[in-house]
Amino acid sequence: MPLPSELSATPLVRPTGCPGLLRIVQAMDGGICRVKLAGGVITAQQAYAVADVAQRYASGVIEVTNRSNLQIRGVGPEHAALIEPLMAAGLGPANAASDDVRNLMLSPTAGIDPRQTLDTWPLARQILASLENTPRFAELSAKFAVQLDGGEALAMLEHHHDLWLSAFTDNGQTLLAFGLAGCPAQDAPLGAVPLEHGHELVMAVLTLFLDRARPEQTRLRHLFNDCTVADFVERLALRSSVSIVPVNAWRRDVSAAHSPLGTYPQREPGRVFVGAAPALGRLDAAMLSGLAQLASQYGNGTLRFTPWQSVLLPDVRAEQAPLVTQRLHALGLLCDAHNPLAHLVACTGSSACAKGLADTKQDARQLAGLLSQPQTIHLTGCQRSCAAAHVAPVTLLAVAPGHYDLYLRAPEHAGFGVLRERNLTIEAAGAWLEARQRSNTDD
Ligand code: SF4
Repeated sequence: MPLPSELSATPLVRPTGCPGLLRIVQAMDGGICRVKLAGGVITAQQAYAVADVAQRYASGVIEVTNRSNLQIRGVGPEHAALIEPLMAAGLGPANAASDDVRNLMLSPTAGIDPRQTLDTWPLARQILASLENTPRFAELSAKFAVQLDGGEALAMLEHHHDLWLSAFTDNGQTLLAFGLAGCPAQDAPLGAVPLEHGHELVMAVLTLFLDRARPEQTRLRHLFNDCTVADFVERLALRSSVSIVPVNAWRRDVSAAHSPLGTYPQREPGRVFVGAAPALGRLDAAMLSGLAQLASQYGNGTLRFTPWQSVLLPDVRAEQAPLVTQRLHALGLLCDAHNPLAHLVACTGSSACAKGLADTKQDARQLAGLLSQPQTIHLTGCQRSCAAAHVAPVTLLAVAPGHYDLYLRAPEHAGFGVLRERNLTIEAAGAWLEARQRSNTDD
């Protein structure tokens, strides 16, 4: 019997409050325009275009998102004037309906990472083209997300994805392990397919999800309230010609992970990438233009944004890395992985979000000044947790201006983890975290 979604000739559109390039969403500080970047990559010319329109038609504030995209804040009434140059620069979708579905996360070092098992770009381009050009996929929610991991040392493996694929080799054959509604850092794979079946697997998962999900079910985890994961995988195997093989002992190796800040060698001898971060994920137009200029002068004319809300300059000659780092520092970017501010994440907060109970960005800067060593801490203005795609080791949840409840991540606790302290001021939170750090070091 046909399923309800198969009877309908009109594609079902799942409503979303997320901004897009063509859908500018209002906030307290003006509109937000989100520019999706394939694999987080932007050319210098495209970066100039973003910086220019952010300056002319918005507040000049540009944010790096935790999915390696950019968003322009404070957009004024001239939406068309802002969008047209971005489209002309090639930053738009292939067609208006496909802007939301370009949610494929790659490692920021895809193709250049010495530790990679696979250069994911060829498969990624194939998947992105299908996402944009298959009308049915316009039914996917703007939040539905796929990850393709090539085994790089620098990879965000903790963000939950509806579908994740991770490359490994077995007896000389490249396979893609996969999982649903989870992440490669925590979950055992459900199975694996040969690399050449990777595209077909992605298409089959997306189509099966759309066939089975009710309109209000925007993510695979919602569908798993109605059916089991095993049932979904069984149907997948039945309806596609992809041969899914069991994966026994393989788990994603996370031991080579390193900070996104600093200088690291690429596969190509003599070439390095240099990583830096704008404080709390926020750039201004001058910083973005400066980055574009550095990429043209010392790199390959492209920048790669990362899910840590930072940026990499690839293809820098190794001997020029110290100079590039100096120039990044002069632009106002954080280049030292030991700087506590580089480890803090804060949402928009009450300065520009009506739901925010505290000015999280301002409080994060104050907190960073109280910490002697880096600690990964997330300050969130409310329970929605917009700034963090996975639970941080420490979460400060605003309860009033300048006051936060403090949670420590604990695998057995849902949400932010275990509530350890209530209603702390920033000074008190700083003292508590410093004392905890000292006692951890002393143990
Ligand atoms: S987490 Fe809450 S306060 Fe922060 S940006 Fe999101 S909705 Fe606003």
